[in-house]
Amino acid sequence: MRDKLTRFLGRMFYSRRVPSSIIFYGKEGIGKRDIAFELSKALLCIEEKYPSCGRCESCVHMMSFDKRKDEELRFYGEDKRGKSVYLYMRGDHPDFVYLAPERSEIKIDQIRGVRDFIYLSPALSKRKVVLIEPADSMNPYAQNALLKVLEEPPQDTHFLLVSNNLQRILPTVRSRSFVIEVPPLTKEELKKLTKIEDPVILELAEGSVKMAKRLKEDRELINTAELILEGKVLDLYKKALEVEKWEQERQYYLLRLLQSIYHRKFIETENYRYRQYLDIVTFGLEYLNKGIRISLLLFQLIGGDEHVLHKSKISGYQ
Ligand SMILES: [Zn+2]
Repeated sequence: MRDKLTRFLGRMFYSRRVPSSIIFYGKEGIGKRDIAFELSKALLCIEEKYPSCGRCESCVHMMSFDKRKDEELRFYGEDKRGKSVYLYMRGDHPDFVYLAPERSEIKIDQIRGVRDFIYLSPALSKRKVVLIEPADSMNPYAQNALLKVLEEPPQDTHFLLVSNNLQRILPTVRSRSFVIEVPPLTKEELKKLTKIEDPVILELAEGSVKMAKRLKEDRELINTAELILEGKVLDLYKKALEVEKWEQERQYYLLRLLQSIYHRKFIETENYRYRQYLDIVTFGLEYLNKGIRISLLLFQLIGGDEHVLHKSKISGYQ
């Protein structure tokens, strides 16, 4: 599946019809950024190759971008009052910027900063590229500012937007962009990339490299999900209090795991209870960093059905 996308992008590249704005969307951790970054390198490559030549001056600068620390790449500008504000990341390549959130949001000042960049002529390559990730972290003001740019796109500048959540991108921005769905990695692709052999992990990761690696490092996540799925009141109660003390990132991965399991179970059984559980977990994911108590959320998942929720049913293995 991934090969098909690469071939498609290659054809688009060589026909010289790369749109001025592309949104790459799909599940988290499946390598969307890598695909967008490779296309960025190709668009800037002096040899004009896709995949990029990897040797020209442009490619060398782009490769160093990936190796440097975020702090070294951070680029600051001035706001209206002359205060220094973080705008985007930039390395040694004069024609490439990488727009990422400051804390959790991409703000309008950042889009304004990018505007100053895009109206300059390219300095090294024939084009310029702005990579925005995650694009759904642009707040509505930022998205509207971007929309103004996309309505009259500067010549030879490409905007590559990467997103896990297409719904959070304004329809007006979506309609100005070429939208490409990046398929999850197949189990074989995932196995090859991560060198993980465990069939349970490969199944539960649902094509996400990030998730697969996380599950391998932290097997307790799978054990906890199993215990929650069994739904025994007392066990669940104890576990939920334990999870409450976990780091937020770990809680996040647990909810992601539960989300994919409930989703699958709902599709398999059409039992409405899974739909309700799915909604609870999805709500939890949305509000996790806004101060909800995860233990209270997990208590709501009580009432497992032993027959359907037997351990071995989680993934069909074991
Ligand atoms: Zn090159």
